[in-house]
Amino acid sequence: MLINNQRCPDKDNNEYTLYDAIITGAGIAGLACSVYLSRAGFKVCVIERKKEIGYPVCCGEAVSKKSLHDSGFYHPSYIDSKVKGYRVYYPDDNYMEVDSQGYLLNRGAFEKYLCCLAEKSGVKILLKTPVLSCFQDREKVTVKTSCGVFEGKYLIAADGPESLCASFFSPEKNKWLPAAQYRIKENGVPGACKRSEFLGFYYDSLSPYYFWNFEKSGYSNIGGCVSDKTILCDFINKRFTGGDRKIHEFVRGKIPAGGLKKKIVFGRVALIGDAAGAVNPVSLAGIYGALMSAKLSAEAAVLSLKTGVNSMSKYEKDMKKSNFTRMELKYLAKKCSGYPEKALLFLGGYFTGRKFHTIDIRLFLKMLKKYPVVLKYLIPMFIHRNLLIKETDNMW
Ligand SMILES: Cc1cc2nc3c(=O)[nH]c(=O)nc-3n(C[C@H](O)[C@H](O)[C@H](O)COP(=O)(O)OP(=O)(O)OC[C@H]3O[C@@H](n4cnc5c(N)ncnc54)[C@H](O)[C@@H]3O)c2cc1C
Repeated sequence: MLINNQRCPDKDNNEYTLYDAIITGAGIAGLACSVYLSRAGFKVCVIERKKEIGYPVCCGEAVSKKSLHDSGFYHPSYIDSKVKGYRVYYPDDNYMEVDSQGYLLNRGAFEKYLCCLAEKSGVKILLKTPVLSCFQDREKVTVKTSCGVFEGKYLIAADGPESLCASFFSPEKNKWLPAAQYRIKENGVPGACKRSEFLGFYYDSLSPYYFWNFEKSGYSNIGGCVSDKTILCDFINKRFTGGDRKIHEFVRGKIPAGGLKKKIVFGRVALIGDAAGAVNPVSLAGIYGALMSAKLSAEAAVLSLKTGVNSMSKYEKDMKKSNFTRMELKYLAKKCSGYPEKALLFLGGYFTGRKFHTIDIRLFLKMLKKYPVVLKYLIPMFIHRNLLIKETDNMW
């Protein structure tokens, strides 16, 4: 498929190539963008520091049906299982249910699939090639790597949550939350694996953010926005009692948490995916942001390359029309984390397994009598209830 040890082919061939676009980072965003651009007939080079596309996997691997199908990259080969929706669990194990169809992916296979498409349409993919610096002048962008210097008409920075490329152009700091995840073999945690058709999100006093349990065919991805491994272990021991746990893998990563960056286009340079902060501030899901920003940035680059007029600002405008920059979502993200235990118990007692969109005024008032002080925490969520219902499929 691709040449793992390829090193600086331009130098090897002893010929200079001015690429139409250089893409830094061969994650979902970078690979998807390279496919869109090369299919439009442009010469693209993707520069990646890892030695293998798609691995190691550091992801819960969940994406909504709508997001994947909108990208045009749906293919059954990398789908692990279908998802009917998700359940939000509260400390007493009561839950609230939301219908929203989606998939659990084999993410490594998904990235390899995108890589195959990219190579088929002529993209040059360089592995084991860390980007060291980049800059632009009026005509082109220059990317310095450990294996040589590459030049292109446009630079798409898709180098993830700690984007080095972004730091050369954007004064905005990369803001992220630490995340950790265990991959636990099925039967290892009885109870963690029985709800196969729903993603599980768990609110617990151990962390202000949610934990997740996504059950795939062979194992569960159980993780949370925590830096301390022991907190995740405490969560697993507390919520999934008993059983013989077989930990398959432990990974750590970073999730952009500041929402879409204020500026994501700088002349001939566009930031996409996690590098742009294209992660939903409420759900913290980023695969759909990676896919969407890849598509919109590629459209703007195609227009720029076809007309010879830099139209990359169209990408920034298009992204700002999407739900990433909605004030309500930013507001909800601030207000809907760090709930006190009582507010969580209120929600558990109120929903008791019902769907989020259903209303039970009597029960609401009854619960309010029991926990009167919690109302102030819940107002933001109930005010924006309709938005959350309407946008469910666009949130992940
Ligand atoms: C633990 C965890 C669980 C998650 N679960 C989900 C989930 O279930 N659903 C969901 O929607 N989102 C989830 N996310 C978020 C999601 O994984 C990201 O938003 C998504 O991967 C962003 O894709 P990307 O292509 O922008 O970045 P990445 O996937 O991070 O790809 C960036 C690429 O750039 C490369 N790179 C970085 N620096 C350099 C450099 N200097 N030179 C060359 N290459 C470089 C990296 O090696 C990497 O391959 C999760 C995140 C974490 C950490």
